[in-house]
Amino acid sequence: MTFDLHTHSTASDGSLAPHELLQLAKARGVSVLAITDHDTLAGYQAASSWMQTGAAPPALPRLVPGVEISTQWGRQGIHVLGLNVDPGNGRLRDLLASQQARRSQRARQIARRLEKLRMPGVWDQLAGQLASGTQIGRPHIASSLIALGFVTSAEHAFKKYLGNGKPADVRIEWATLTEVVEAIGAAGGTAVLAHPLKYKMTASRRRALLADFVGCGGRGIELISGIQSRDATEVLANLARQFDLRVSCGSDFHAPESRWQPLGALATLPRRCKVVWDEWSITC
Ligand code: AMP
Ligand code: MN
Ligand code: MN
Ligand code: MN
Repeated sequence: MTFDLHTHSTASDGSLAPHELLQLAKARGVSVLAITDHDTLAGYQAASSWMQTGAAPPALPRLVPGVEISTQWGRQGIHVLGLNVDPGNGRLRDLLASQQARRSQRARQIARRLEKLRMPGVWDQLAGQLASGTQIGRPHIASSLIALGFVTSAEHAFKKYLGNGKPADVRIEWATLTEVVEAIGAAGGTAVLAHPLKYKMTASRRRALLADFVGCGGRGIELISGIQSRDATEVLANLARQFDLRVSCGSDFHAPESRWQPLGALATLPRRCKVVWDEWSITC
């Protein structure tokens, strides 16, 4: 069985609609899929509703309710996946509503900052670009900057303006790591630390992060995130063992063009690891 437990749709910064993502996942041989949009369950919900309509083809992947939540660990931004959550849970929904308010507030501030940097029109461009309910993120702002001719690529936009510490990087206080992990637990889900090697930190700080993550109820670690080296897999498998964490795997798919985040095409997990889905009673 092929599991891909980290993907994005148009409900956040992915390029495929939730039903298109399901269809591509089926074509790629994925048997269990989690749509984990940034700070929203809307991607999962739209896909799940579509599966129940007559329009949906047979033999689609099993869908796991999921979300990727931006959190704050001290001054460091950390992403936590909430997998197999109860989408109706009030505490989780409240937390996501406040994260969503922070996202739109931040986007306005970034647009203002860009205006001061002599790049006007971003906010209006965004309003025309985004479907209502989409959780706005920096990739949308990068697209606006491209459309307005201020940069030539998303990479360029992040490098010059939007990335951490750059002139249009607006710091926002996300919910804390503890608040997020506890809310996922309260919603019956498994909290998984997303892409642990993508944060700029030393190995000892990463272990401190994992100790705190486990201390507040974190249960899993993303052992495979898209295309990664064997060394990375080895480092993460050792951390999983050291902190007694279950393991997960996901492409972090955003768009079919991305070579590093290929939907469903993931390395196999080392045998010695305990997988997150063993706890979920998944039958295919
Ligand atoms: P945000 O959710 O607004 O903080 O934006 C973070 C998202 O931006 C990530 O989930 C990635 O999809 C994307 N991203 C991060 N760094 C880059 C980069 N250097 N170039 C393009 N996209 C990026
Ligand atoms: Mn993203
Ligand atoms: Mn992430
Ligand atoms: Mn992601």
